Amino acid sequence: MLYGYAGSILRIELTGGDVQKQPLPDDLANNYLGGRGFVARILFEELPPETDPLGPGNLFIVATGPLSGHFLPGSGKTHFGCKSPATGGYGDSNMGGHFGVELKYAGYDMLILTGKAPEPSILVIEDDAIEIRPAGDLWGMGSLSLERRLKEELSEDHQILTVGPAAENGVVFSCITHDFGRQSGRSGIGAVLGSKNIKAIAVRGTGAISVADADRAFSEGKKAYQGVKAKPGFLGWTPEGTAGITDWVNRVGALPTKNFRESFWDKQGKINGAAILRELKITDKGCYCCPTPCGKYGKAKTGLGEVYVEGPEFETISLLGSNLLIDEISEVAYANWICDELGLDTISAGVVCSWAIECFEKGILDQETIGREVRFGELESVVYLLDRIAHKKGIGRLLSGGVKKASETLGQGSDAFAIQVKGLEWSGYECRNAPGMLLAYMTSDTGAHHARAWVLGHDLAGTAANVHDLITSGGAVEKLPKSSLEGRAARVVESQHLRPLFDLLGICRLQYMELGFEVEHYERLFEAVTGRRLSWEEMLAVSEKVWQLTRSISAREIPKFGRTSDYPPERMMSEPASYGPNEGHCISREAVDTLLDDYYQIRGWDSNGIPTSETLKKCGLEDVAETMDSWACHKTEQKF
Ligand code: SF4
Repeated sequence: MLYGYAGSILRIELTGGDVQKQPLPDDLANNYLGGRGFVARILFEELPPETDPLGPGNLFIVATGPLSGHFLPGSGKTHFGCKSPATGGYGDSNMGGHFGVELKYAGYDMLILTGKAPEPSILVIEDDAIEIRPAGDLWGMGSLSLERRLKEELSEDHQILTVGPAAENGVVFSCITHDFGRQSGRSGIGAVLGSKNIKAIAVRGTGAISVADADRAFSEGKKAYQGVKAKPGFLGWTPEGTAGITDWVNRVGALPTKNFRESFWDKQGKINGAAILRELKITDKGCYCCPTPCGKYGKAKTGLGEVYVEGPEFETISLLGSNLLIDEISEVAYANWICDELGLDTISAGVVCSWAIECFEKGILDQETIGREVRFGELESVVYLLDRIAHKKGIGRLLSGGVKKASETLGQGSDAFAIQVKGLEWSGYECRNAPGMLLAYMTSDTGAHHARAWVLGHDLAGTAANVHDLITSGGAVEKLPKSSLEGRAARVVESQHLRPLFDLLGICRLQYMELGFEVEHYERLFEAVTGRRLSWEEMLAVSEKVWQLTRSISAREIPKFGRTSDYPPERMMSEPASYGPNEGHCISREAVDTLLDDYYQIRGWDSNGIPTSETLKKCGLEDVAETMDSWACHKTEQKF
């Protein structure tokens, strides 16, 4: 018996409506742990070659981890996976809330959807009862409104995820929404669900999960809560949540400003954590079993209307705030709410809007093509663009594929300021003088996302033990020296094993990252719950194996995949910041190649960034190594 797991996979082939419940294979649980590990292995084994990401052949995977749903801090995380419509390669995204826990209580560690429902539908899972219900009347509804309606129709106890109009229309940066403000935002995961004609999934579980040693699991869980509560900063970090880091990010010159043209903004005090407390917040909001709720639920009043909204958290502040020069927190929150209702990832949406506005300023896009003038700092412009994008109307058709595809279509040098890697828009940190963080974005396996590695503190602030120390470190804004490249690649690799490990286990990493919570708690809880003894180092080895696997999937799926896929946008290599702490700094192409050389060497990849057969075998991926000859990256001659 697999303790700690629900023990089953629910598979639904939507085209014919075939439903199967399968046992969770022991070797999958033992070798890949859960969450992101399950996603990667299933995608490697089951994704048909050259699958259209928005076609019926793609897989939509929901995966929980061995610690999901147990009595420990932050055990409410759920992982999603697919072939990404944004990048064409490996795609995944993580979400807090209660959905995965409920799925596990219904009896399933994983849900895998294939095919395409013949008509707009919702999927309702109530323990063993599975129903695909026609839902044509719900098509077109906003994500938040739909969740409210389904809660009323089903029950408050059902956990629900929804997609908005953006996903219905195949916008590649569509997200999934759950719990009125929790999103699985990246990789275009919402677009894949929408392409399957599924508007929502509701789950209600009334079962239990067997654990190896219930008494020990309870006492270790209790100790873990006491440990988190005893941490310095336990009560200091929660009130503002991730928004609390805004001032520090600005102070070290890493706040994306005006489509990443600059990295510092003197108006950041109007959109930071303190502004949320002052003008928006009603209450804190957290995920299942969380003692440090980072969600902020509040009310935003703007000239365009009043809304209740969860957020904005830091990423949304930077991409819908400073990067668009929106200098009122209520307006940032309003744009956040529009994205939530339309089902757009706030990060990509912010970058796409700032790119479009810069194209307008430069005369690359004219008023007639866009349909109106669009300006930095103007909420109306942003809301207009978001609506066009989600409904794929007018200029929205060009923008709905993300900035990489849009700039390839438009040309005229617009790719230089299309801020993305591999087709995924860049999240909340500007990195001209942060080579480690830059490398983290360049090599992230889903595109330019910070969740895989966060080394900004190492780049710009020495070796602060945790984010709480950074937030409270204070200090005046001063010009920073140019950061060296030394040791950056090793630090990134270390972080890329550490952070995703939490996504394998099905738990939140913020208690560890923000408060310095000790990993020994997780080792002890893992043993109590599963009956297996694994050291943190052994779990990190699994995380490394999954990293090699996700890179291999992208190399297999993306033609011409290699070193150039890892390059940052031209802007960061040729346009120094003109003011602020990093004035005059940018990163040269030579420095970028040096970082990649170091990184590939540590990873055991060839000079083009492709895992070698030797490396894959060393990580226990012999069967993956055997497939290398057929990978898309090897089918096209590449020159560097
Ligand atoms: Fe959820 Fe935030 Fe708590 Fe993590 S810290 S479990 S994301 S509420």
